[in-house]
Amino acid sequence: MQVSLNSLYWATFILLTTTQAIQVAPLDTYQIGPYYVQNCKSNNNNMATLLKTMTAALQPAITDLGSTSSSKAYTTFFKDVSRAPYVRTVFSNVTKGVSVATAPGSPSSEPNFICVDARDQVTWDENGQQVDAYTRCGGGEWPAMALLTTPYIVICPLFFTQAAVPVQSSASCLKVRPYLNRFAQGGKSLIVYQVWHLLHELVHYYVYSTEQDSLDVYGVNQCVDLPGGKAMLNAQSYVYYVANIWLGCTKFPTVDTRPSGRFRGVELLETEANSTALKANESIALVVQNVSVQAVPLVQTSGDVDPDLTSRGLRRHKIVYG
Ligand SMILES: [Zn+2]
Repeated sequence: MQVSLNSLYWATFILLTTTQAIQVAPLDTYQIGPYYVQNCKSNNNNMATLLKTMTAALQPAITDLGSTSSSKAYTTFFKDVSRAPYVRTVFSNVTKGVSVATAPGSPSSEPNFICVDARDQVTWDENGQQVDAYTRCGGGEWPAMALLTTPYIVICPLFFTQAAVPVQSSASCLKVRPYLNRFAQGGKSLIVYQVWHLLHELVHYYVYSTEQDSLDVYGVNQCVDLPGGKAMLNAQSYVYYVANIWLGCTKFPTVDTRPSGRFRGVELLETEANSTALKANESIALVVQNVSVQAVPLVQTSGDVDPDLTSRGLRRHKIVYG
C-alpha cells in the first residue's frame, strides 16, 4: 500500500495488519442490477438510480479508452496509453459488477454496499479491539469506505447528505490557469457527488483485486502530478477522468510525461488552498487482511423498491461467503 508523500494529503485509508474478523449483522439485502445493497431501506431507490446513472456515465469513458488516439482527459490523468486497456477493464468490471476475488485465496464476490446507520451493523477486529463501521464513519466525516479484501463497501450517513449527481454540462468543468499550468480549483466541485463516491469505491474494489494495492490522492492537481503507474492505483484519478469525459471538458493542464530530471518542466510552487477543503468529503479505503466473515446476512422481506429502476429486477438474495 502506498501513501502520498505530499503532506497536504492525509492518509485516507487505514492498514489493518493483524488478523481481523469482519462481522455483518443481519440486514435487508437487495440485488440492484449486479450489485448487492444492504440496509439502505428508504434509500434503496436512490441507490438503484445512482448505480444506473453511474453505469451510463461510464460509457463515454469506455468508448474513449477504446479509441485509437488517447484523449486529453486520459493523458492528463493516466499519461501512458499502454494503461488504457487496464483502465477500460476496471470500468467494464464496474458496469457489470463482475465477481472477483478481492484478495488472493478469498472467494469471488460481487461488490456489496452496506448503508451503515447505527452501531453493531458492521464490525471487525483490529489489534484485538472491536472496530465499528459506524464509529469509523467518523460521525459525519467520511461518505463511504471500501473494506478492501472483503466484498463490503460501507456507505456512511454523510453520503446521503451530499448531492447525488452533477449537472451534465461543460459549465461544470474545472477551470485551468494557463500561466500556472494548473487547475484553478482543488477538484472538489467536480467529484463530491454520490455517484462519484460509488465509482471511487468500486474502482478501489476492482483495482485491489488485481494489484493488492490502493492509493488515495484526492486533489486534482496532485492527481495530475501522479506518474501513470501511481494513477492506476489511485481511485480518484479514475473519477476525475470519467467526470471530465462525461461533462465534455476540454481544458487541461499540459502534462509533461518525460522522466523527471533536468529537462522536465519546472514544478510550480503553488499553495493548494483548496485541497484541504476536500478532507471532509473523501471516501476512505480500509485495507483489511486475513478476513473471515462470521455472520451470514439474513434475508428480510420488504417490497418497497420500484423494480423499474433495476436492469435485472430486484430479488431477495441470501449471500454466503466462505
Ligand atoms: Zn479512496
